[in-house]
Amino acid sequence: MSEKKKSAIIIGTGIAGLATAVRLAVKGYDIQVFEANSYPGGKLSEFSVGDFRFDAGPSLFTMPQYVDELFELAGKKPGDFFSYQKLETVCKYFWEDGTVVEGYGNLDKFANEVEKNLGVKKNKTLQFFKKAKAKYELTGTTFLEHSLHRSKTWLTKKVLKSLLLLPTLDLFSSMHQVHNKSVEHPKMVQLLDRFATYNGSSPYQAPGLLSMIPHFEHGIGAYYPNGGMISITNSIFNLAKSLGVRFQFNALVDEILMEGKKAKGVLVDGKRFYADKIVSNMDVFYTYKKLLPNLRPPKRQLNQERSTSALIFYWGINRKFANLKLHNILFSENYNAEFDALGKGEVCSDPTIYINISSKHSKQDAPPGSENWFVMINVPYSSNQDWESLTQRIKQNAIEKINRILEVNLEDHIVTEAILDPITIESKTSSYRGALYGTSSNSKFSAFLRHANFNRSIQNLYFCGGSVHPGGGIPLCLLSAKIVDDLISEGY
Ligand SMILES: Cc1cc2nc3c(=O)[nH]c(=O)nc-3n(C[C@H](O)[C@H](O)[C@H](O)COP(=O)(O)OP(=O)(O)OC[C@H]3O[C@@H](n4cnc5c(N)ncnc54)[C@H](O)[C@@H]3O)c2cc1C
Repeated sequence: MSEKKKSAIIIGTGIAGLATAVRLAVKGYDIQVFEANSYPGGKLSEFSVGDFRFDAGPSLFTMPQYVDELFELAGKKPGDFFSYQKLETVCKYFWEDGTVVEGYGNLDKFANEVEKNLGVKKNKTLQFFKKAKAKYELTGTTFLEHSLHRSKTWLTKKVLKSLLLLPTLDLFSSMHQVHNKSVEHPKMVQLLDRFATYNGSSPYQAPGLLSMIPHFEHGIGAYYPNGGMISITNSIFNLAKSLGVRFQFNALVDEILMEGKKAKGVLVDGKRFYADKIVSNMDVFYTYKKLLPNLRPPKRQLNQERSTSALIFYWGINRKFANLKLHNILFSENYNAEFDALGKGEVCSDPTIYINISSKHSKQDAPPGSENWFVMINVPYSSNQDWESLTQRIKQNAIEKINRILEVNLEDHIVTEAILDPITIESKTSSYRGALYGTSSNSKFSAFLRHANFNRSIQNLYFCGGSVHPGGGIPLCLLSAKIVDDLISEGY
């Protein structure tokens, strides 16, 4: 008699849910995925306004090997299904006084540019990146690719080596202090400090160890997925379907069914579905609050400070800007004040503005002679702010800043508009308080206090996605799927 196929239910089609589906399908699991929305991808989705197409959420793509790996696991050649190009200029930086720096992907070229335009000695920049790389190589793979909550992760030679090198990891300084000490020049410090926002944190509070993040872009590289960010979602979704994964859309999971301490299934629209393993890709906060209301939640983990959120203006622009690249940053005059305000749940009057223009690479994303602007401002996670009036104020300030720096009258060129605010982020993806990256990294202990990929007191239930270890952002979400796969495979 043939053995019954092992089964798994996944709640949510965020990038981590999709990656988990692929990984478990490859292992022979029969998989059913329930998604509340009518489309896959969660934050990593797309929409169009007239002839303008927009990636709704993430715009920066690093560590493509974690996507490739999914195709390789399935025995397929990644390039046949998902392709991307390395960016020559990762980001173009602008300041109010007219200073411009091209953040080249090639480190040597970037260091030359920084010396030429900011006067920071090339050697200093290279030295900073050498240290950033060392930090990543010492700690990154061990702690990002494995559960922090198993002794197995800690009992390796590599961990022992990093413990011996603890003083070089800058655990007790802030990112800002590390950058200040390393490159001194205020504009270069601001440029490096910006990387704290990659997990929704403040450079003045996030631990210095995170000064490894710039290495991801300038040491390893930033990429543009051909077809836009949405092709990450679509290619993994199609891969999962080709492996037999069954998807149900418009299917909100109302409850995780328990039998004693074991998760047994889910309740969807009054119907019960059972499986051997349940994986929640829903924000861990709401997984407990909404799907496990009868369990005592792990308060300490759930009460961790949330990451920042974002306010995004998706503008159809009826002209082209030759001086802009795919990723552009218009810096605030006072970065400290900007993060001070965010920490108080406010937005300062001169916030940093990020402009992403995918039509620079995907011409079909905007009509001829036009561009699709994704204009993002970091804002605090939602806590009863009046987003309607804040949005109007921020929009006004943003347009004035863009006009000053790019010497344009932008209002004359905006032909379509859509807006995403923290309330909508929360309602579209069930992300608690509209946080982009789950919990912030604003303390030395954040990594340890982030919820694990399992809960010791609940059997057969696992957690993936930006709100659990190792954290938010596409690469880390993909790694959370790998960790869940390892846990399940090892019978944990
Ligand atoms: C505006 C914005 C910009 C960003 N920029 C970047 C960037 O440039 N680079 C980067 O790497 N990252 C970026 N991020 C972060 C990145 O998008 C996220 O970390 C990542 O996409 C989160 O994926 P996830 O797997 O946690 O799932 P989510 O994307 O959070 O999706 C969860 C899914 O679960 C579904 N769901 C929830 N509850 C239920 C339920 N009860 N039943 C059924 N389905 C349910 C939701 O509908 C949703 O589809 C950005 C995020 C945003 C919003």
